[in-house]
Amino acid sequence: MNNFENLIPLPSSITPMKGITFVTPNGITPLVYAPSFFYDELVFVCHHLSEAGFKCAPAPKDTDPDNLPPNCVIQVEEEPDLPMAEMYQLRVTSSFIQIRASDSSGAFYAFETLRQLALSSRKGRLPGISIIDNPATSWRGLMLDTSRHFFPVSFIKKILDTMAFHKLNRFHWHLTDDQGWRLYIPSLPELTEKGGWRHDTKTTWEDVKIGGFYTEEDITEVVKYARERHIIVIPEIDVPGHASAILTAYPELGCTGGPYEVEDRFGIFKEVLCAGNDRVFDVLKTIFEQVCKVFPGPYIHIGGDECPKERWDNCPKCKKRMKDEHIASSTQLQAWFTSKVANIVQSLGKTPIGWDEVLDGTEVFGLPENMIVQSWQSSERGVIAAKRGLQTIMSPMTDGCYLDYSPINDPAEPGRLGLCTVKNSYDYTPIPSSFDSKMSEKVLGGQANFWTEGTPYSRVVEYLLFPRLCAISESLWLPSYQKDFASFAKRLPAHKKRLKKLDILFYDGPLE
Ligand SMILES: [Zn+2]
Repeated sequence: MNNFENLIPLPSSITPMKGITFVTPNGITPLVYAPSFFYDELVFVCHHLSEAGFKCAPAPKDTDPDNLPPNCVIQVEEEPDLPMAEMYQLRVTSSFIQIRASDSSGAFYAFETLRQLALSSRKGRLPGISIIDNPATSWRGLMLDTSRHFFPVSFIKKILDTMAFHKLNRFHWHLTDDQGWRLYIPSLPELTEKGGWRHDTKTTWEDVKIGGFYTEEDITEVVKYARERHIIVIPEIDVPGHASAILTAYPELGCTGGPYEVEDRFGIFKEVLCAGNDRVFDVLKTIFEQVCKVFPGPYIHIGGDECPKERWDNCPKCKKRMKDEHIASSTQLQAWFTSKVANIVQSLGKTPIGWDEVLDGTEVFGLPENMIVQSWQSSERGVIAAKRGLQTIMSPMTDGCYLDYSPINDPAEPGRLGLCTVKNSYDYTPIPSSFDSKMSEKVLGGQANFWTEGTPYSRVVEYLLFPRLCAISESLWLPSYQKDFASFAKRLPAHKKRLKKLDILFYDGPLE
């Protein structure tokens, strides 16, 4: 079996050229030429490639592509005729490296492929290879929960870098939950002053508070870092459930008025935002306006998962709302709430995304047509969304997408709630086999999700993410008929050496 230079995700078409190696001539630094569509990115990709052991530098802007100087041995060309977005062709010969790309993302991924090759090669060398490559899905995501445990910007950047390394392009940032509000909102400072911290009764004998939050500068830094790596950041403000932190900051937004506390327990809690209080929507508008200010991407995730109805069923304001709006049940009241929040997001020019509970109780109010539904309970929930004509992101906990689950049935290993082997993650297919091409168009792609109740330490997050995230990246990059677990397993040991060079911890046990 060919090892295809151990690339992960495997390119959709790849031909290694046996016996051919590009060797940097003694005493020269190879220059990279690119026309305007990619010129501004050259400093970045050259730096990355140099760090990986293949030293190179951008050619001057006025270099004539038809008359390249002898040391300009890497050429990037824009090729609009390549039929797919994010597509590239890469050819490494003994003396020249040619990249043709449909767009800047395609060119960027050619360099990520070179980066993987460089990390597995001797300094200044690259193996001869011919690749034509493009992804099977446009949405290749990872969600990280930074509420249950807070992680510094440095770790977020490390995650973004490893995402780019695996050609993932959507970072879903879970910023709010019962255990902490992580996004600073200037006009609502108590969200982070009070809601960003919780008593910690689990890891210390003393009564200390743990937590933290991201400032505007932090967010700007992360968004820029992501953009350089062709990753869109999707912020999640989870409403109306998982609301203990926001209610602690502003108790008047709850059905009972509190008092509330930022939770140090994990689970689902009955305290939720009051659906009968108009002030809730004014506050949410203020929050989403600030979200729009710091996150330039086109999407905002509005949560919608795990919202118990006990408070709503017993709240005079919620009951009045149901009566006034002719709402038959508290499940329908959540659908009304979802529509209201989705409309706020749309009025700000963004596309709302919700967890798959947003499908429930929608008989009367429906969902906005451009709402994206993210399946998490099962693939079937995504199928329901697609059948209703909605776009969907597939990230079912049942099919290898929950990477905080244990990778093996062994009490010595970390991970919680369920089992998700590397093979489970590899077998995950975002597009159900029963879908025809029209239905398949509704599936934007998929995501791995990582909840952090069980992982206070970022090193453990890394350990659990990898190599399952490598498997997911291939599940999202390759069409299912091209996937081959035996091939992946054979390539993985060499890829783990690359992860080691990037200082990424990974689970190293059995794959199934
Ligand atoms: Zn209420």
